[in-house]
Order: sequence, then structure tokens, then C-alpha cells
Amino acid sequence: MAKQRVLIVGGGLAGLAAAMKLAELDIAVDLMSLTPVKRSHSVCAQGGINSVNDLTRQQGDTEYLHLDDTVYGGDFLQHQPPVKEMTVWGPKIIELMDRLGVTFNRTPEGFLDRRRFGGTLFKRTAFAGATTGQQLLYGLDEQVRRWETEGKVKKYEFWDFLGPVLDDNGVCRGAIGQDLTTMEMRAFPADAVIVASGGPGLIYGRSTMSMVCTGSAASRCFQAGAKFGNGEFIQVHPTAIPGADKLRLMSESARGEGGRVWVPRKPQDPRDPLTIPENERYYFLEDRYPKYKNLVPRDIATREIFDICVNEGLSVEKDRLAVYLDLTHIPRAELNRKLGGILEIYEKFQGVDPRSTPMKIFPAVHYSMGGLWVDYQKSADGGLQQGSPKNQITNIPNLYAMGECDYQYHGANRLGANSLLSCIFSGLITAPGIETLLKGSKQAASELPSSLFERAMKQQKTRHEGLLKRPAGGENPYLIHQELGDVMTKAATVVRRNDQLRDAVAKVKELHERSHKCSLSDSGVWTNQNVVFTKSLIDMFPLALTILQGALARDESRGAHYKPDFSFSALTATDPTERRRQAEAWCDNFDENNRKWLKSTIATWDGKEVKLSYEDVDTSIVTPRPRLYGLVGAEEIEKVWKERQVAKEQAAAKNGNGAAAGKPALAGAH
Ligand SMILES: Cc1cc2nc3c(=O)[nH]c(=O)nc-3n(C[C@H](O)[C@H](O)[C@H](O)COP(=O)(O)OP(=O)(O)OC[C@H]3O[C@@H](n4cnc5c(N)ncnc54)[C@H](O)[C@@H]3O)c2cc1C
Repeated sequence: MAKQRVLIVGGGLAGLAAAMKLAELDIAVDLMSLTPVKRSHSVCAQGGINSVNDLTRQQGDTEYLHLDDTVYGGDFLQHQPPVKEMTVWGPKIIELMDRLGVTFNRTPEGFLDRRRFGGTLFKRTAFAGATTGQQLLYGLDEQVRRWETEGKVKKYEFWDFLGPVLDDNGVCRGAIGQDLTTMEMRAFPADAVIVASGGPGLIYGRSTMSMVCTGSAASRCFQAGAKFGNGEFIQVHPTAIPGADKLRLMSESARGEGGRVWVPRKPQDPRDPLTIPENERYYFLEDRYPKYKNLVPRDIATREIFDICVNEGLSVEKDRLAVYLDLTHIPRAELNRKLGGILEIYEKFQGVDPRSTPMKIFPAVHYSMGGLWVDYQKSADGGLQQGSPKNQITNIPNLYAMGECDYQYHGANRLGANSLLSCIFSGLITAPGIETLLKGSKQAASELPSSLFERAMKQQKTRHEGLLKRPAGGENPYLIHQELGDVMTKAATVVRRNDQLRDAVAKVKELHERSHKCSLSDSGVWTNQNVVFTKSLIDMFPLALTILQGALARDESRGAHYKPDFSFSALTATDPTERRRQAEAWCDNFDENNRKWLKSTIATWDGKEVKLSYEDVDTSIVTPRPRLYGLVGAEEIEKVWKERQVAKEQAAAKNGNGAAAGKPALAGAH
């Protein structure tokens, strides 16, 4: 048999981790990326990467609690076995990256320094100043370059993945790629294809993601038949710097290092914020969430900032929505050492020194919890079966997905600093599974009849040339993109309403139609960015519709998906009997809602339309419980909930159902 090869699409943390591991296993890798791999979006990650560590262990932390925080933070919408495995690997991954030379910050004693991120009470986050993604990416890039010099990895930078090649049985046998300089297209026969192409932020026009995050690669797999999971769960980060061109993140690490969010109690108080006395400031997150304070999970912090500006009229500016994020109480030297990179970004784009003046920030689209549906094989201990070819495979045989473009780890809301972990983890866990897959194969993809690849090439060439030949005077792709971004931002970010979502679906369908009538300002055959962008624009629509239709269908509030018309209200009664009754009703609603909606949305594309179905979630490790970070009446609800859990466990024990009885009673486990 000829030498087998794996094609990886994407050279961010997920793609590079997979490339390194496959090369170590002596598997030949082709690595394709729109940008040089060191410019992949991962380079922008700022705040850090999570794992249980020696310090947190002394405070009682365990991998189990990391799992618990992650699924509680994600509103229980993720399958728990992959999350369990990821949290178990967390400490080993940090150790690996440390050994690979990543310049993590250290304490004076030489231990890795850690900071606290949202949705946990432990300091789990390892960091390299405020450029953690860059340091991790460079660490993995160095390894991959080593394998490149040994001939195990071949890189194709500035190449666009145009789509997978499927044989007559629907098995993925490679892909078609296009060189962005010469515009040459070629087939890449591959025995497995891994898509590690990051998030789809550009669908929203402006976001904190890089400008190459179009979602095009994931969409091309989706249009080829891959399922897409939980598309409607888009994370809006609470703290970003508004900008006309794009929205730049102000990392959660700013709050992790003690940053405080506030607004003046007097609307649009014109005074210099530093002169506003403490008693005239409203630290609304600290007030409303006394346990987590400024580090409440992102979906909640985002909604509160939105609410304080939009509904309570307390934005710090009259014509623009913003709240203060204040670091001015922290010594300058400490800020420079721990947050230098992000403070420079603020200074550069706002012209104000955030070390001496509170920053003005507002939420922005940031991350996609949804992504290509992937499978896993559960092990006997409830984690993942290592070496299984099922781990991270899509429903298309031989096609894998990982990193931000899969749907596996973050449920309805991602906790900060868990993405870098899931990217590296998914890269590392997939490689041995692919080794197993290749061992079981009898014929290398490069030995298949060339007609298979020629057919796919022809389709892509027809598409490409058809666009170049479009008559002048048609639609402008950049204006259509702007309209798409506006519709998506209005309908499917912080607050979602069915009437707006319905209108948005209709409008996006109309824009989709119009996108097929675009005229190109450049019809050249050399470095034609216009045609590359137009293709990715057209491919944004199936994912945009997946987000909108998933959101429209999901009549509940869960994590980042917030529909006020389907939310449970806080307890209002003060009379103890009535309050108890309300808490009982609240728990009944919660159970009923979970019966209906504790399910992943699975989207498929039939060539024209999105079709939705639902998949049960594996919650075999941590029992789903109400997410009560700061709800009024949380204590009463928690009390009722715990009593019910105990009663259920006792009943299960009586009936001899050991499994149910043995499951940890986690309500209030922290
Ligand atoms: C500003 C910012 C800060 C963040 N900070 C943190 C943090 O501190 N901690 C944390 O855990 N998470 C953080 N995140 C999230 C995290 O950075 C991302 O989720 C993660 O880096 C994604 O990595 P990835 O490997 O999946 O994809 P990426 O790093 O986005 O890489 C995608 C790759 O796919 C390639 N690609 C895409 N489309 C194509 C195509 N059509 N053809 C060929 N190649 C293609 C790209 O060129 C690139 O190489 C942050 C996100 C943002 C926006």
C-alpha cells in the first residue's frame, strides 16, 4: 500500500497539536491554512488556559470539580465523557506546553502563576502575560517545524480549503484546495481529513475574532453532509472595545486580576470617573452576584451589562453603550507584568492609558460553542476510549473536526480559558484514533481512481470560473456582508425574540439569494481576494441560517441563548409559605423544561434549507441542576432542589438502582 497521509485544515492550536502528534506517530501530514499558521486566530488568545493545579488542589480542587464547573457553566448541554477526559488531561497539557518552552508567568518561588477566570472560584488559569495564545501557538509551531524539516509535515500556507472529496459511498477521501497566490487548484488525496478551522465570527460582521474567521471550511463540510451541533449558541463576551472596523477583546483576565465593572449611579455622570466617590458608583456585578462578583460566567455578565445600559439607562455615555472596567486601583508595575499586552491594545486603539483611567467597554460576539457535530467513544471509567477512531469524527467517515469548529466541549456557554484547553486536547486525543483508523484501511487514498478527484476539481473550477465571469453591475459582496452582519447582530446576540428571529431568517434567505448575483470588482487570475471573499460570503449563509433557525426553534433560555419570553422569573414572595410554593413551582418548571430542551440541536443542510433535529445529552456524571449564580431566591430553590435529589437517591437505593444512587449529589457542591 502507498504511504497514507492525513490532511489537516487549519494551523491554530487544534490543528498544530494534531499535526505534532500525528507526526510523532509517524503519520505523514499535509497542513493547509488560509494564513501562515503563526497568524491563526489562536495567536490572539489573551487570558490563559485552565487546569487543576497544585495550588488549587490544596484548596480542595479536583479534575471532577473542573468538569463540574464546565458543565454547570455550559448549562449542562455538553456530553460529559469528553469534558471529563479533557479536564483529566488539563494538568498534563500545561506540563507539556511548559516543557515545550511556553513562557508561562511564574511566581517568585518559580511555580507557574495562576489567575482566576469566570465561572469558577479556583485560580486554575495558567497564563503568559496577556499573550497566552501566541506563546502556546509558537510553542506548537516550533514542534511542527521540526517535523517539517524531517519531511513528516508539509505545509500549505495561504491555501483555501474548498471542500471535502467524498466517494460514492460518502466516505471522505481528501479535499480540494486553492493556492491564494497563483489561484491554482489541486486535489489532496487523504486517508483522513481533519478540519480545525476555528470560529465563524465574520458571519456577525464585527466580532472579537480575526478577519479570517469566516466559518467557510466548516460550512463547506456542512454543505457536503456533515451535521452541525448547537449552532445557536454564540458567546457574546462581556468586555470588548467598540471599534468601527472590528471589536477588540478586553480579556476576562483584566477582571481575573482584580478589574471592577461599574457605572455611575447618576446616568451619564459627566465627571472624570476617578473623581466619582465610591458611594456614587454602582458595582452592579459585585452587588448582584456576591459569590462570583466580577467573575460570574460570561453569558450572565454580558446580560447584566446589556441590561444596565439598555434597560436601566446607566450607560456611561449618552450616544454609545458602555460601562467602566476599572483597573486603576492596581499598581502599574503589576498591571504591566500581568496584563501588558491587552492594556497596550486599549491604549493604541482608544488613545487612553487604562492604568490611570477606567476603560469603557461593551459586549461583543466572541466565540461559537456550536460547531461540526463530532462523535466519541466512551471508556469504562466514563471518559474517552483512547485510540478510538470515533473520537472527534463527524458523521462523514474519515472526516474529523476539532477546536473551535466542533460542538463538543462547551455546551450552552463556554467558560473563559477552557477553549485553548479543548483545542490542544482535541488535537492530541484525535491523532491516536486516526492511527487506528489508518491501520484498519486496505487502500491508500492516493491509490484511488483519479476520476474521483477530477470530478471534485471540476465542480470547484466551475464555481470559481462562474464567479469570475459574472456580469458587471450586480450585487456588491462587501455590502451584502455588512447587511448580513447587521441582521445577525440585531437578532441573535444577547437577547433573542421570536418575531425578530423570524424576520432575520427571511432577510438572510433574501441576502443568500442576492449573494448569488454578486459581481466581482476583480476578475484576475492572480491573488484574487475578491473571489475568495465572495465564496466565503456565500458559504456563510448556511451557517447563519443554522444559528437563526436553531435559536428560533429553541423556546427556552439556556446559557448564551436568552429568550426573555421563555425565562423563569426570580422568586418574588416574602411570606415563607408562598416563597416555598414558588420555589417548588420553579423546580417543576426547570424539570419540565429540561425534559423538553436538555438536547443538542443537530442541523443538516439539504442543499437549500436547514433541517433541525435533536440529540439527547450524556449527563451520566454530573446531574443537571438549576444554574443559580445569583438569582433572587436562589437559596430557597437550591433547598427544594436538594431535598428532591435526596428523595430521588433514596428511592433509587430502595429500588436497588445503584447507578442512580451512586451519582454524586452535586447541588451546591462548591
Ligand atoms: C480575542 C480573543 C481572545 C481569546 N482568548 C482566549 C483565552 O485566553 N483562553 C481561551 O481558552 N480561549 C480564548 N479565546 C478563544 C480561542 O482563542 C479560540 O477558540 C481558539 O484559539 C481557536 O483555535 P482553533 O485551533 O480552533 O482555530 P484558529 O486558531 O482560529 O485557527 C483556525 C485555522 O484554520 C484555518 N482556516 C480557516 N478557514 C480555512 C479555509 N477555508 N481554508 C484553509 N484554512 C482555513 C486558519 O487559517 C487557521 O489556521 C479567545 C478568542 C478571542 C476572539
